[in-house]
Amino acid sequence: WAKHEGKGRWRCWEPDRAAREVTRQRLATTMRPAIEQGEFHLEYQPLVDLRDGALRGVEALVRWNHPRLGRIAPSVFIGLAEETGAIVPLGRWILTEACSRAAEWAAAIGRECPFLSVNLTVRQMWESDVVRDVLRALEVSGLPPALLQLELTESDLLGDAGRPVEALNELAHAGVRIAIDDFGTGYSNLAYLSMLPVHALKLDGMFVQGFGTTDRSGSRNDTIVTALVRLAHSLGITVTAEGVEREEQVSGLRAADCDLAQGWYFARPVSAEDLTAMLLRGTPPPGAGPAVRDR
Ligand code: C2E
Ligand code: MG
Ligand code: MG
Ligand code: MG
Repeated sequence: WAKHEGKGRWRCWEPDRAAREVTRQRLATTMRPAIEQGEFHLEYQPLVDLRDGALRGVEALVRWNHPRLGRIAPSVFIGLAEETGAIVPLGRWILTEACSRAAEWAAAIGRECPFLSVNLTVRQMWESDVVRDVLRALEVSGLPPALLQLELTESDLLGDAGRPVEALNELAHAGVRIAIDDFGTGYSNLAYLSMLPVHALKLDGMFVQGFGTTDRSGSRNDTIVTALVRLAHSLGITVTAEGVEREEQVSGLRAADCDLAQGWYFARPVSAEDLTAMLLRGTPPPGAGPAVRDR
């Protein structure tokens, strides 16, 4: 088609765009049956303590192995699942699957078990009985609520957030940790967020990338991260850095007193089986793992 765009400007038919749209539609309709057919699975990425390198948590990350299209990235299908509402059954499956794995890990390694972090989307907060889904996943799996963290992005919580906030309060009351994901990418308002039951901030990779640059923007980045961490700590909130890929980022984050880190420098997301092996070996993720980094 040719779309009229403003005065006297025509946009040409774009085959790429049309193909993408067809793919999107097809994906959207196959998503629900795909859940039942077991096309989704979870990977788990370690969250590491910056003080001693210990594995403190794992984030569950969903993957779709499409029979014809192969691996599809969550950045593609999560948005689509949000639009179509498929996020509700998919989100429920993710919670159940992740909690049952984490409960097995907790039973196998006992005390000092890393917590499980699961991503939620705003539509799940609005449209499903997310509190009931979470409590049921905990009950069925036997995972202690204190070992579950739920991640929401700040834009999901800002704005007209009546019901999501109510749900968050109920979840926090049940003993679940709440984390703000991708912190710093939206209209960060820590004063507002501090009124929510927030236990952790996940500092977006954008800030992490700024470490180790020697120009003025680099030193400004250090200042901002240090101030953010201090402010979070004064509110009783811990800070996890995302997307840590290089040594100088680790030292920068340590200097800023950041608590946990997650990224390819420490470990890529791995299968449940690989994470089980990692936990049973009792070794921290290949620590300062340059070997893992380049996998
Ligand atoms: P996110 O929650 O911010 O997850 C972190 C993303 O960063 C993951 O991408 C992870 O693989 C990637 N990552 C980890 N370490 C590094 C690193 O050192 N460098 C770089 N460049 N990237 C790193 P992934 O798995 O592709 O997921 C993308 C986004 O999709 C997630 O961002 C999250 O918003 C969404 N997502 C993934 N799994 C789920 C899920 O189970 N439920 C929901 N609702 N959303 C999910
Ligand atoms: Mg996340
Ligand atoms: Mg994130
Ligand atoms: Mg992110």
